[in-house]
Amino acid sequence: MPSEHFPASNGMLPYWRTEPHRLDNFRSTEALPKESDIVIVGAGYAGSSLAYHILDQVPPGDKPPSITILEARQACSGATARNGGHMKPDIYNFVATIEAEHGVEAAAEVAAFEANHVHAIKDFVDKEKIDCDYTVTKAIDVQLSSDHFQKLKNGHVRLVSNGSEPTKQARFVNAENAESFSSVKGAVGCVTYDAGSIWAYKFVLHILEKVVSQGVNLQTHTPVSKITKSTNNSPSSAKWAVQTARGTITAQKVILATNAYTSALAPQYQNKIVPVRGTCCRIAVPPGSTAPRLTSTYTLRWNSWDYDYLIPRADRSIVVGGARTAFIDKLDNWYNVSDDSRVLESAVRYFDGYMQRNFVGWEDSNAYTDRVWTGIMGYSSDGLPHIGSVPGQKDQYILAGFTGHGMPQIFFAAEGIAKMVVGGMTFEETGLPRLFKTSQSRLDKQENKILKSAPQSGSSQAKL
Ligand SMILES: Cc1cc2nc3c(=O)[nH]c(=O)nc-3n(C[C@H](O)[C@H](O)[C@H](O)COP(=O)(O)OP(=O)(O)OC[C@H]3O[C@@H](n4cnc5c(N)ncnc54)[C@H](O)[C@@H]3O)c2cc1C
Repeated sequence: MPSEHFPASNGMLPYWRTEPHRLDNFRSTEALPKESDIVIVGAGYAGSSLAYHILDQVPPGDKPPSITILEARQACSGATARNGGHMKPDIYNFVATIEAEHGVEAAAEVAAFEANHVHAIKDFVDKEKIDCDYTVTKAIDVQLSSDHFQKLKNGHVRLVSNGSEPTKQARFVNAENAESFSSVKGAVGCVTYDAGSIWAYKFVLHILEKVVSQGVNLQTHTPVSKITKSTNNSPSSAKWAVQTARGTITAQKVILATNAYTSALAPQYQNKIVPVRGTCCRIAVPPGSTAPRLTSTYTLRWNSWDYDYLIPRADRSIVVGGARTAFIDKLDNWYNVSDDSRVLESAVRYFDGYMQRNFVGWEDSNAYTDRVWTGIMGYSSDGLPHIGSVPGQKDQYILAGFTGHGMPQIFFAAEGIAKMVVGGMTFEETGLPRLFKTSQSRLDKQENKILKSAPQSGSSQAKL
């Protein structure tokens, strides 16, 4: 298996990238700058949010640092543009596992941090007038296994009785009403609470446009091959030499916003942030279809590892992510894979007749699969993102490892890093969830929850 996973040069076209922004292939300057105060590697949700928050943290009247964003492919061409668009906080599911391992305070911190994203991003989108279809609605987690539903209920009861405030928002619907409540065939229970849906590519490109207009140098099609300590030949004694095919740029501070591809530049994250293949599709309905309009987002869960997630779109199409059952049996299909140039045929077949199969009233809808695509997620071996100072590498930071769940984590995690980078705060002073801090002890741990979550292991851990 290859140990170095760089973004593939020929990633396939996902639905979300079918309306490219004018900055898609943008380079602020023809030549790469020789130096920059801060270099951010990666122009996805994380890289763009970092640039925004760094500028936002600079006190009025102070000179902002120079920032360069280096992106291997087009702007926002990684996981962010290939996802399900589901802004769904985890307030009771994996959070219950966290509570069992780390206690209720740490678990509640994660739940509150994620829940806050849903409404705070809405405020931000409204304030900035971002055209990205952001919608706040209810998530409906539909359970199709009574045993699993019972496990979730037990976790929920434990979290609430131990004092996890954000978990109280989750409302449970029992078996007798589950199918009529959700319109999902065979539902044996539901859990519902606030969530959002978003066209993340448009959100990111709006932010990039804003920061570029404020002086950030964006360089697309500039893969970084290596980051080394600078030999200090540059006039400003920059600390880092960031090597690319177009030359080397030196920087005082480097931030890795490289998610799945992090270990290619920071080998200490190998096996700690693993590239994992995800699959999504867009299901369209022809004009005049009898399909009922969906307004909530959904998760359909058959067991701890087999689940899909759905967001409805204003044009009545549905974006569905998951299809794990179609490919999870072979590890090479999905684990330690960075090729997003093709989809697995078994995953394509999985989506045929999906809505007709699963939703009441959709049988004669003529809904059809319009497009299927692949994206590469950065799964963290302990299920938690790595955020903060890279251990032992002063002035190098990381914001990565979102385990297919970055939408309700990244924007305000980036704010936390900006406070460290601009304001000199410690991780603890930022108020980010303590468990998200990257640390040597996490890098030293041998556990691998990713493989544990595969059905072959027999001891699956659920993610949303
Ligand atoms: C199929 C799929 C479905 C998903 N569904 C959801 C969902 O519904 N809800 C949810 O919360 N999350 C979901 N996710 C996860 C979510 O998309 C990610 O957590 C989030 O987008 C990560 O953002 P990012 O900026 O860290 O990573 P990315 O968007 O991957 O950005 C990283 C960028 O870094 C660049 N890069 C990497 N290495 C280098 C290098 N060496 N040099 C230069 N540039 C480099 C990449 O090209 C890329 O553009 C899904 C992901 C996938 C793939």
